[in-house]
Amino acid sequence: MATKLLLTFAICRLIVTVGLTLDPTELLLLGVDAQLSVDPTDVKAASLDFGLLIGAQPPLAVMHPASSQDVAQLVKAAYGSNFGFTVSARGHGHSINGQAQTANGVVVQMSGSKGVSGMASGRKPPHPRVWPQERFVDVWGGELWIDVLRSTLQHGLAPKSWTDYLYLSVGGTLSNAGISGQAFNHGPQISNVHELDVVTGKGELLTCSEEQNSEMFHAVLGGLGQFGIITRARISLEPAPQRVRWIRVLYSHFSIFTSDQEYLISLHEQPASQKFDYVEGFVIVDEGLINNWRSSFFSPHNPVKISSLDPNGGVLYCLEIAKNYHESTASTVDQEVESLLKKLNFIPASVFTTDLPYVDFLDRVHKAELKLRSKGLWEVPHPWLNLFVPKSKIADFDKGVFKGILGNKTSGPILIYPVNKNKWDHRSSAVTPDEDVFYLVALLRSALDNGEETHSLEYLTNQNRQILRFCDEAGITVKQYLPHYTTHQEWVDHFGNKWDRFYRLKMEFDPRHILASGQQIFTPTNMASWR
Ligand code: FAD
Repeated sequence: MATKLLLTFAICRLIVTVGLTLDPTELLLLGVDAQLSVDPTDVKAASLDFGLLIGAQPPLAVMHPASSQDVAQLVKAAYGSNFGFTVSARGHGHSINGQAQTANGVVVQMSGSKGVSGMASGRKPPHPRVWPQERFVDVWGGELWIDVLRSTLQHGLAPKSWTDYLYLSVGGTLSNAGISGQAFNHGPQISNVHELDVVTGKGELLTCSEEQNSEMFHAVLGGLGQFGIITRARISLEPAPQRVRWIRVLYSHFSIFTSDQEYLISLHEQPASQKFDYVEGFVIVDEGLINNWRSSFFSPHNPVKISSLDPNGGVLYCLEIAKNYHESTASTVDQEVESLLKKLNFIPASVFTTDLPYVDFLDRVHKAELKLRSKGLWEVPHPWLNLFVPKSKIADFDKGVFKGILGNKTSGPILIYPVNKNKWDHRSSAVTPDEDVFYLVALLRSALDNGEETHSLEYLTNQNRQILRFCDEAGITVKQYLPHYTTHQEWVDHFGNKWDRFYRLKMEFDPRHILASGQQIFTPTNMASWR
């Protein structure tokens, strides 16, 4: 009853706000069982994201679904109504540029519904279901990766491919790619999915996989939420390692650093004993919490001052590698690590090693989050820029950006690591450079209002523009990861030869452009002109 009242209230507000002459009975007949909330706290939360860059975009209402059917009912209503409204799935809202927001519609809050106190009916999304024999897990689209991990570990299993941070939703990362240091070996997270349940922009609930509705399956993976809302994902698992040997080594020469990284990822076809399980890296321009928040590594236990390794105070590069192991194989791990390290050319005195449980390794960034939160440095604007840079141009990028534009100030960690393109399925919607190896360069900056110009949002935003302009002028054909564009032509250029298919499938699966309008790829159809 309370649910129905809330729903009625929300619908009335939809009608009033949009100014539509919508027949209220039409919406009242939705039969949406989930809670549709206009509670100011819910609406405010759904209007913000991790980026904190754009002004709040309050939705008209927020839905807390408990099932795929709830989502389907809502989207079907949006699709079928004469005037309509947009629907945006929101995972954990860790986008930068409002991608999960919608001003004139309903945000479907996929993550966190299990903890919503107002779920009067007590209905909640399903918990992960592990299939130990088949080695996969079925998870709700809003499930956070940390909870996927906790569930699968109960069966001694774990997903193969990760993001650095686990408080992201399955639907959110699969809509992009989901990459971390395992990607060179297992591909991005979108390469490790067997099956999906998806609610299309027409409100149909489809199951898709390689065999069934395969065009939909590939389109949704990396599809920026444009074709459907993922309500269930079947994710591939492997036996979970117990511990991780986590190593960092330093370089002062970029070309030596990248050739070692490229060598390590070239070992992807080798047996497990002859390769690392994780290869990443980062640029060290200056020290300090905000610059190295991902790193709990160099301080306070580590007595070595980084500046002592490079007396010229230049840019240093840190290779970050890890080897997973089971306690039963602990006796061989030293040897395996040793023989791999021997092939590398880092600064001899710069090996930093630690050993920790697998979960602690995967969940490492959360520790940094807590540290930043305690200092009030987490909920600040994040003008992040994530780029895929082709291998052939990475040295030009180093010269022009790390040693040039950044001018010794980073305002956040800068990740840099290569991946193998053959681990990406070219049929997915994800866009990558046209070379066998390309680098992720992630400038994870935080803007601070501390009076220093170089920390300001305006300065960092301008610098991002400068970096993109530099790449353009220098012929460095980068592709944005977690892309953000505002014009049609930029999107067409971004997708390149994938655009025609992307557009065709959008017209097929979401012809009214109801879904994920916060990506700003398609404008919602003028509702009146639709019929
Ligand atoms: P949201 O921001 O809620 O949504 C993102 C987009 O996906 C929106 O367009 C939304 O409409 C759509 N969407 C959400 N759920 C669904 C669904 N169920 N079905 C269809 N579409 C949906 N990325 C990496 O690849 N590797 C990393 O290591 C990494 N580390 C990160 C660390 C931090 C601290 C942060 C803030 C982000 C990081 N990211 C990383 C980026 C992250 O993968 C993306 O921002 C991702 O979109 C966040 O997931 P979310 O659940 O918060 O998505």
